[in-house]
Amino acid sequence: MSATILSGSELAKGMRAEIEAEVQAFVQAHGYPPAAAVIRAGEDPASVSYANALEKALGGRGLGFKLHTLPDSASQQEIVDLVARLNADTSVHGIMVQEPLPKGIDEAAVKEALSPEKDVDGVHPVNAGRLAQAAPVGRPPMVGPFFVPATPAGGMEILKRNKIKIQGKHAVVVGRSNIVGKPMALLLLRENASVSLCHSQTEDLPGMCRTADILCAAVGRASMIKGDWIKPGAIVIDFGVNFAGDKMVGDVDFEEAVQVAGMITPVPGGTGPMTNIMLMMNTVRAAKMAAGLK
Ligand code: NDP
Repeated sequence: MSATILSGSELAKGMRAEIEAEVQAFVQAHGYPPAAAVIRAGEDPASVSYANALEKALGGRGLGFKLHTLPDSASQQEIVDLVARLNADTSVHGIMVQEPLPKGIDEAAVKEALSPEKDVDGVHPVNAGRLAQAAPVGRPPMVGPFFVPATPAGGMEILKRNKIKIQGKHAVVVGRSNIVGKPMALLLLRENASVSLCHSQTEDLPGMCRTADILCAAVGRASMIKGDWIKPGAIVIDFGVNFAGDKMVGDVDFEEAVQVAGMITPVPGGTGPMTNIMLMMNTVRAAKMAAGLK
């Protein structure tokens, strides 16, 4: 048996057209585009290439984009001051601070400096807290509006747009970072899955993974999850971005997993392309909220 491939690239293509139409309608109504600002301190090569990709993605769909760079020697105060200026700038609707920040910078303090209403990657404690406290879908929300980190939001979009049943299923998420694993677990819980959240201290990780109807990998270890860790027919969402030599591979051993799973995201072309899409969607939403629309 060979699994159905859940292509994030294809999904992203369709969603770009949706976003473009929304941006055009917004510009027509308000006379300015939804706009994002990215802060990068230092010249980390992965951050440089990510910022370039973001600029291309947002600019190509009619959104505003501005990259603010600071030197590697930037102080905590300089970074926080820049965040404060962007918070106060009404032409900026979304702000992202790229990691890694230079050594010695308190990343948590920088995240807290962001205005929660402009925190389109959902890293501010207010947004993370509201996600944690949000009621399951189908019940009154219980919390104010919040932004969800773009990568897990993209994983959920893949599940939902492929009409994969989440309610009542056992979801196992491997990895508990604040930016991928933990929010993914909370999003699945909110969609009424029963969720197990695994990490480096989990006993019998292969056994845990084998119980998953929906298995999500956010570890950062090339091809760690083997085919015989996967329940036959399971849905596999691979967030991993690793390099084996020149080849980009996920956290799941794709060649093995594709023989066992029911559906699987490839790497590349799975969850990766959805991250920018969700950032664009969140930026449009932030602009609408700032304009008092929703
Ligand atoms: P982190 O390094 O912040 O977190 C990794 C998590 O994996 C931790 O919770 C860690 O456990 C757990 N872990 C590490 N080793 C093992 C192990 N041997 N067994 C079980 N769990 C383990 O990574 P991120 O969450 O930032 O990223 C995860 C992956 O997702 C990476 O490959 C990254 O490149 C990718 N990524 C992809 C994006 C996309 O757009 N698709 C965007 C962002 C990230 P513990 O907490 O115990 O240390």
